[in-house]
Amino acid sequence: MAVANRELVEIFKARTDKREYRRTVLKNSLEVLLISDPDTDKCAATMDVRVGHFSDPEGLPGLAHFLEHMLFYASEKYPLEDSYSKYIAEHGGRTNAFTSSEHTNYHFDVNTDCFEEALDRFAQFFIKPLMSADATSREIKAVDSEHQKNLLSDSWRMNQLQKHLSIEGHPFHKFSTGSWDTLEVIPKSRGLDTRRELFKFYEENYSANLMHLVVYGKENLDEIQNLVEHKFQDIRNTERSCFRCPGEPCTSEHLQVLVRSVPIKQGHKLRIAWPITPEIHHYKEGPCRYLSHLIGHAGEGSLFYVLKTLGGYCTISVFPDFLIFTCSNLHDIDFYCYTSK
Ligand SMILES: [Zn+2]
Repeated sequence: MAVANRELVEIFKARTDKREYRRTVLKNSLEVLLISDPDTDKCAATMDVRVGHFSDPEGLPGLAHFLEHMLFYASEKYPLEDSYSKYIAEHGGRTNAFTSSEHTNYHFDVNTDCFEEALDRFAQFFIKPLMSADATSREIKAVDSEHQKNLLSDSWRMNQLQKHLSIEGHPFHKFSTGSWDTLEVIPKSRGLDTRRELFKFYEENYSANLMHLVVYGKENLDEIQNLVEHKFQDIRNTERSCFRCPGEPCTSEHLQVLVRSVPIKQGHKLRIAWPITPEIHHYKEGPCRYLSHLIGHAGEGSLFYVLKTLGGYCTISVFPDFLIFTCSNLHDIDFYCYTSK
């Protein structure tokens, strides 16, 4: 069902969907999708910033991810450390965020009666975060412990290995998450101040024209819109251009390559990866979903069925990176078998 709205954008929704939708653009160019659901007992919001680890500056791998951590910490308006997460948790909600190749995404949900304050705290991430010197150095340790955990994960290791086998100098080649070494030891030895670089990265990339906000509330659309305009219109707009990959991550010398690696866990995994056009260009047709369905089919006569008859435990997963928009993704098929044979 097409729903006309005052911004002359058609929003398609299922006939059974009783929620109301509206797309609006604030004066600072922030594009917003508003959703009104009078029956909900939880409200939610998500902000997507069109910058990710592909934009990490030279010599500071993991900076975009580190910034994601820092925005949670405190803002000038709410300077008490971690008070945002505590506020949400104390009011029946959850918070999370992730940094991908070309995007960083922040989101939360919360009880409906606390939505206005939660939204205000959330908006301050993008208006005036605090990023104190003390918190900066403590949070690098948190990023490092995330990295130490990833070191014990075969899928994280495989992903990094895959990145390593692309063109050196292409953003895809980068180490995405960061560690104590990449954010503290190495920058210091080169005379780089990580906190100053953090501010610089924030100032340069967190521009309202590169952000998209979705807000889901119990109030009617006009009320939600007023709330959003009031809270988010102070985000700066520097008319920053969107990141674009300089080209493809792999040439023929990076393809048709066989790599053997020793896993940490028991079992055997075969990954076949090949570059495909970003799925976003064909989002209406969703060709990767067809591929995933066909290759991952588990019925009689399928690849899965044959592998399963070998005994033991077996899975097939097929997945592209949906969040790479401006160069080819590596489409992966993973075969995982744990068998005594
Ligand atoms: Zn993290």
